[in-house]
Amino acid sequence: MADIYLLLGGNLGNRPAFLQQARESLAIEVGAITSSSRLYETAAWGKTDQPAFLNQVLRLRTELQPEQVLLAIHRIEQELGRERVEHWGARVIDIDILFYEDLVLQTQRLTIPHPQLHKRRFTLMPLVELAPELVHPVLQQTVKSLLENCEDALEVHEFMEQPE
Ligand code: ATP
Ligand code: CA
Ligand code: CA
Repeated sequence: MADIYLLLGGNLGNRPAFLQQARESLAIEVGAITSSSRLYETAAWGKTDQPAFLNQVLRLRTELQPEQVLLAIHRIEQELGRERVEHWGARVIDIDILFYEDLVLQTQRLTIPHPQLHKRRFTLMPLVELAPELVHPVLQQTVKSLLENCEDALEVHEFMEQPE
């Protein structure tokens, strides 16, 4: 059994509903969700002429190997209707592997820890909410201190869900 952290994000359609569907599929296909952050809203990163993103970090317990987790998240992204049009473009759902225990892995398809996580406030804020003392196995710093030192200028705020 491994503890993993995943980042969910989406900026099209009913964003909270897509995150919820992703959580339901992940719980079935990857493993039990043992902790989930609040939802955070951020202006688009990298390619800025598109709607704002909602993001959430989850901790799961899984029996899957890292490559199998990647296959499962690709399957779930497809099921939810993600179209891979352009890198960093708008999408209904994006699921990234942030950490897999304290594994350090670099293959053609998969880099763990996620190579951008320390550069992105929208990733660090929900991650710190769940696990402030978690130590990045490459940078050897807690995620809390990565957030304190993060130079990302994009504002991230907690998202208040509107009642139906
Ligand atoms: P970014 O990685 O900068 O957040 P993105 O999520 O928009 O960009 P995608 O198009 O979703 O990029 O993914 C491109 C490829 O990244 C995937 O097909 C996958 O093979 C690879 N990848 C490498 N490391 C990871 C990881 N830790 N989690 C998810 N995908 C990864
Ligand atoms: Ca991503
Ligand atoms: Ca991705």
